[in-house]
Amino acid sequence: MSRDKDWDNAFTATSLHGTVDGSPSYAGALSFMRRKYTRDLAGVDVAVTGIPLDLATSNRPGARFGPRAIRAATPGISWARPWPWDFDPFDRLAVIDYGDCEFDHGEPAAIVPFIQKHITEILDGGAASLVLGGDHFVSYPVLKAYAARHGPLSLVHFDAHSDTWSEKTRRLDHGTMFYHAVREGLVDDSSSVQIGLRTTNDEPMGFNILDARWVQENGPAAVAARVREVVGDNKVYLTFDIDCLDPAFAPGTGTPVCGGLSSFQALEVIRGLGGINLVGMDVVEVAPAYDVGEVTALAGAMLAAEFLCLYATNPERSA
Ligand code: MN
Ligand code: MN
Repeated sequence: MSRDKDWDNAFTATSLHGTVDGSPSYAGALSFMRRKYTRDLAGVDVAVTGIPLDLATSNRPGARFGPRAIRAATPGISWARPWPWDFDPFDRLAVIDYGDCEFDHGEPAAIVPFIQKHITEILDGGAASLVLGGDHFVSYPVLKAYAARHGPLSLVHFDAHSDTWSEKTRRLDHGTMFYHAVREGLVDDSSSVQIGLRTTNDEPMGFNILDARWVQENGPAAVAARVREVVGDNKVYLTFDIDCLDPAFAPGTGTPVCGGLSSFQALEVIRGLGGINLVGMDVVEVAPAYDVGEVTALAGAMLAAEFLCLYATNPERSA
């Protein structure tokens, strides 16, 4: 690609395919992985969209800045296909940056239906969404949109927390939404897996739990094998709370918990899931104000890029 002619791909792209090489990693629009910024969903396989909400955090806020930080970390990894995959996800998938979901934080009661509508528009356009959070609560309205289209989903959930605490109330925050998602039939807990948990919940519902100790003792390949066994051919929604990673690898988050996964372990699990029936994905809880050297944003960016590789392993979805 000739830089003077085509730079910057976020504005000038004439194709939605192909890795964009040769652009300076320190400059240009903050589109995800140099993808074209557009709301045109024609021919699109995956629309990347930010949901900059952090009103549902229970501890430190700041994940509203997550989408921007993750995007800013992507030029450094977008010059070649993600290692160690043997294909380029952008050869197989048409991926765009759809921009962020805008909502009025002053009308909190309207936020859930608004986010659901935002995601429904993407699904109605024939694409899947890759959501950049935002606190983890954003997965709840996203799942409402997905379940309306696909029926109950198997959740593959990476987290230090179960996010199924309920206190038997109707309240919703970033630690209760999966309780409600199961109760409302958005998620089938018995065919879902939670990975990396290391906080106490005496009422964990019916989820299959591979806690942080299980991951350390058995390793990523065994985690991936167990996940594939549990989800089978079901439609899978993949949600990755960045606090699944140990604070050494992801300090920039609202509720860090020691003793978590390394970035290598998490990435290896993702790489071991090829062929699952993935229909949507998110990476949430990146809060750059608490980050050090942008390592958390980079982890979020690399995970998101590998989610695209994983999504592309389903031949039905490839170009
Ligand atoms: Mn968490
Ligand atoms: Mn969470």
